[in-house]
Amino acid sequence: MTIFSKIIAGDIPSYKIAESEKFFAFLDIFPIKKGHTLVIPKIEVDKIFDVPDEFLSELLVFAKPIARAIEKCFPCDRVNIITVGLEVPHAHVHLIPINRPQDMHFDNPKLKLSKEEFVKIQQQIIAEMEKAVSKW
Ligand code: 5GP
Repeated sequence: MTIFSKIIAGDIPSYKIAESEKFFAFLDIFPIKKGHTLVIPKIEVDKIFDVPDEFLSELLVFAKPIARAIEKCFPCDRVNIITVGLEVPHAHVHLIPINRPQDMHFDNPKLKLSKEEFVKIQQQIIAEMEKAVSKW
């Protein structure tokens, strides 16, 4: 079982942002920017392009409202989507608010956030998503 499957199962705690039947989103525990979020399919596949089409095509649609909410909470030029995958063998995308290319470099020092800061970021993003839904 991958560490991300344990997070989905709730065996390892996470700052959950959103969940559907097929996907799960949560804050990266070693963020490179505030709002750095991971989106994962609820199936254990290592490489992103080995993910079955049905999951792969829907992943972006699941990520879209999350990315929009991150952009509202942490003003930036845009929220970018990146795949790396060299650390955890469970396909995932990183959503990262950026103003310049260097903002998405994984060599940058990771932010050290307290539990309270993580909870605040989690709540801010969830609140923005709820606001967006209530406008429909
Ligand atoms: P990658 O596999 O894309 O190179 O990196 C995996 C990402 O997952 C890293 O940004 C790392 O900080 C994050 N990560 C690794 N383990 C955990 C964990 O247990 N919880 C959370 N929330 N993030 C994790």
